[in-house]
Amino acid sequence: MMVERHWNQIAPGVFQRRYDPLDISVGAVLGGHGVTIIDTRNNEREAREIIDEAAAQFGLPIVAVINTHAHYDHTFGNQLFAQQGIPIYGHHRIPAHFEQFEKPRLELVRRSPELEPDMDWDGVQVTPPSHLLEQPCMLSLGGRDMRVIPLGAGHTDTDLAIHIPDAKTWFLGDIIEQSGPPMFGSGAHPMGWPGVLEFLLKHIQPGDVVVPGHGEPVDREFVIQQLHCFEQLAATLCAALQNGTAIKDIVFPAEVRALWPADFLLEAAKDAYAQLPGAQ
Ligand SMILES: [Zn+2]
Repeated sequence: MMVERHWNQIAPGVFQRRYDPLDISVGAVLGGHGVTIIDTRNNEREAREIIDEAAAQFGLPIVAVINTHAHYDHTFGNQLFAQQGIPIYGHHRIPAHFEQFEKPRLELVRRSPELEPDMDWDGVQVTPPSHLLEQPCMLSLGGRDMRVIPLGAGHTDTDLAIHIPDAKTWFLGDIIEQSGPPMFGSGAHPMGWPGVLEFLLKHIQPGDVVVPGHGEPVDREFVIQQLHCFEQLAATLCAALQNGTAIKDIVFPAEVRALWPADFLLEAAKDAYAQLPGAQ
């Protein structure tokens, strides 16, 4: 698949750039006097590329950063923006998530770099957002209005949706994925995920542009299709738990197996079994 590695204007004054490694979506939302960057990649060096390439493209100062969720590929570049005094907005649970998942994970991959030979963790200082959000709010950043909505537990318990009303555009982080299947593990809540998507679908209109955390922009119909898969997954896990089925014996419906490979479903089952009352 040919992926365009440049700032792609997906709506008036709203850009997506897809970066490797991990094909992560970085957003740029232009206002009259500044740019807001959405997500910061894996480390300071990668964040430097965002800053340099945004300056070259837009010629406006970066006035804010928003994290779609706590995972390292979306937040480990935060430190460079923080050093430059740029405010960073994110879900209020990100600091707790960092302590529970991202910091231990960083320790592990630093001790065993062979686990991820393509990645570079040199100098990473895990940096939470400076502005922690508990409630939905309308922010005016660089002269552009955007609605920022902290969500319930789904992909993580730190997910946050960003809606730019005048561009009919949404950034949803990894609540929706297009270039690969949605990921579990590192604090995922497969049983809560369908409810998060149902909530969002009350607000996402036909014709709106939805930017996933990884992959190309999608539409409302794509979100509905992915919701159907999540509903079947959650129902299967729920029944398995009620029946006392061992994780290795769970049989998933064909639609679920068509979206997720077996190792992803194993992760989802482990997450669900660890979180539900009566967990084994
Ligand atoms: Zn993620």
